Amino acid sequence: MQPYSLVIHGGAGTIIKEDMTPELERAYINGLQDALNAGYAVLEEGGTATNAVKASIVVLEDNLLFNAGRGSVFTKKGVQEMDAAIMDGSDLHAGAVTGVRNVRNPIELAAEVMHNSNHVFLSGKGANDFAIKQGIKLEPDEFFFSQFRYDQWKALRDSDNYSLDHTHQGLEELMKDKKLGTVGAVACDKQGNIAAATSTGGMTNKKYGRIGDSPMIGAGTYANNKTCAISCTGHGEVFIRAVAAHDVSSLMEYKGLSLAEAMHEVVQVKLVQMEGEGGMIGIDAKGNVSMQFNSAGMYRGMRNSAGENFVGIYKD
Ligand code: ASP
Repeated sequence: MQPYSLVIHGGAGTIIKEDMTPELERAYINGLQDALNAGYAVLEEGGTATNAVKASIVVLEDNLLFNAGRGSVFTKKGVQEMDAAIMDGSDLHAGAVTGVRNVRNPIELAAEVMHNSNHVFLSGKGANDFAIKQGIKLEPDEFFFSQFRYDQWKALRDSDNYSLDHTHQGLEELMKDKKLGTVGAVACDKQGNIAAATSTGGMTNKKYGRIGDSPMIGAGTYANNKTCAISCTGHGEVFIRAVAAHDVSSLMEYKGLSLAEAMHEVVQVKLVQMEGEGGMIGIDAKGNVSMQFNSAGMYRGMRNSAGENFVGIYKD
């Protein structure tokens, strides 16, 4: 039987056990496990890898703990602008959106772009217009409001700083117990097809229409049956310059590295040299998985047809 598996992440950064309460830790673990179960159920029923990653991401986007969809961080202007991307490794089709507002599940909009448009990447108002035309679910601003995100933003809004969701950068007290993040999923289905998806609110206090790596095909999200499916999380500017997700694929395709070797090269060598804090999850068409990060922690989990199930936060 073709092995099938699913890996998810909920962001990487300075996630330290001492900063966590047992209740919050439990909430994260449960949130990750719910997302794993939703995507895994799709695979078990014979669904596609793209539908599995979408199902996992929707659960994470609906969870206020994570910086995506409902839990997205505030921009400099005090609104939420969300990014998402999805890629199907079986045919290299992809869909992505950036700077969308009021879309309940940006990953559904990205999938709509992939399946029902002639385009790959839509932005801002145009992407929102497309959402309305396709009947994608919208929500009012209040739906996306959370006090701790607002407080995070208030501490930064009068400065030129922007921050990675999990990283203190002088905000220890404020960020304490609130280290949340971008979400991603990669899957390998019963047909041996793989897919990747990533969704984010970006970085707190971002401005000028800043776009991170998450919705950029090849930077934060990439899938190709020949090599791997990758979803990244971390300091997006560096991941863009490193073309991080596609770099893993290239190392596998042209240098013959295994998934884990290629990810190690990019996360622990290249990104470290470039001072790019973060990590990524990956899968190949044989169902092998890897989760790697150079930060203190990464919310992550995996489940496969061999019966393995793992959810973790810190570097163990
Ligand atoms: N990579 C995301 C961005 O730069 C942030 C994150 O992963 O938390 O927008």
